[in-house]
Amino acid sequence: MASPISARTSPRHTLSVSPLSSVRSPHTSQLAIRAANPLFPCAKLSQARAVVAAAMEVSKHLSSSCLANRQPSKEVLETWRSADAVCFDVDSTVCLDEGIDELADFCGAGQAVAEWTTKAMTGTVPFEEALAARISLIKPSLSQVQYCLEKRPPRISPGIADLIKTLIANNTEVFLVSGGFRQMIEPVAFELGIPTENIIANRLLFGTSGEYAGFDTTEPTSRSGGKAVAVQQIRQDRGYKTLVMIGDGATDLEARQPGGADLFICYAGVQMREAVAAKADWTVFEFQELISELPQLNT
Ligand SMILES: [Mg+2]
Repeated sequence: MASPISARTSPRHTLSVSPLSSVRSPHTSQLAIRAANPLFPCAKLSQARAVVAAAMEVSKHLSSSCLANRQPSKEVLETWRSADAVCFDVDSTVCLDEGIDELADFCGAGQAVAEWTTKAMTGTVPFEEALAARISLIKPSLSQVQYCLEKRPPRISPGIADLIKTLIANNTEVFLVSGGFRQMIEPVAFELGIPTENIIANRLLFGTSGEYAGFDTTEPTSRSGGKAVAVQQIRQDRGYKTLVMIGDGATDLEARQPGGADLFICYAGVQMREAVAAKADWTVFEFQELISELPQLNT
């Protein structure tokens, strides 16, 4: 078994690139935009350092089953072009980072929380258990969340702003569906022109002095299988005919089911998970691949 390869993209990011089931994509080396809104005035372009020739080397070894769906079928393209709603995962899809890991690191609980995040991603523990364990290790106050967003505004993935602009210009509704926290996603939605009512995510709760008071366990995204439920709910509430889910994780793939998403597109530009990519209808490494297949109206 080959050793994991570590690459540093910034003073606080060490990326572990494993040649096994999940690899950090080389495309994280592209320009990343830090989300900013008037509350978090830290707008800047951030040039992540060259990630890793090593990661590119690893990507060459991906199984042919993953690469078989790099070219979409005619039916997949027709569904993509006719979608009246598109739901995006946030962590490692719309954004380069895992929001809860960022918050944990900022609050000094990075290592312990990252271990739970890995368990949550691999499905070895129920999502709700991993979420509760992680947040109880952080117990962030409102001011800590705000300070974290100010000091470390979420990094928006390359090309996502143009994709969302193109979808909106084509009258396609855009949603963010995340197992992360709404308070950390709102600045991203603001930056991308997505209304807050189109965010389906977990909610941190605070006391009257801003102290941590738990999280809302009634949100479907706080439980295993929650994204699938949330996407079904969106479709039912809005009466969409054709709905597409885009993400990098197994919970995003689950959203493709009767009454939910018609199509699952795996975005492997940040994290490449072979098991997810292999079952996707279409796997892309750059959002430009999706933009190229849409009508180009005035955006
Ligand atoms: Mg994700």
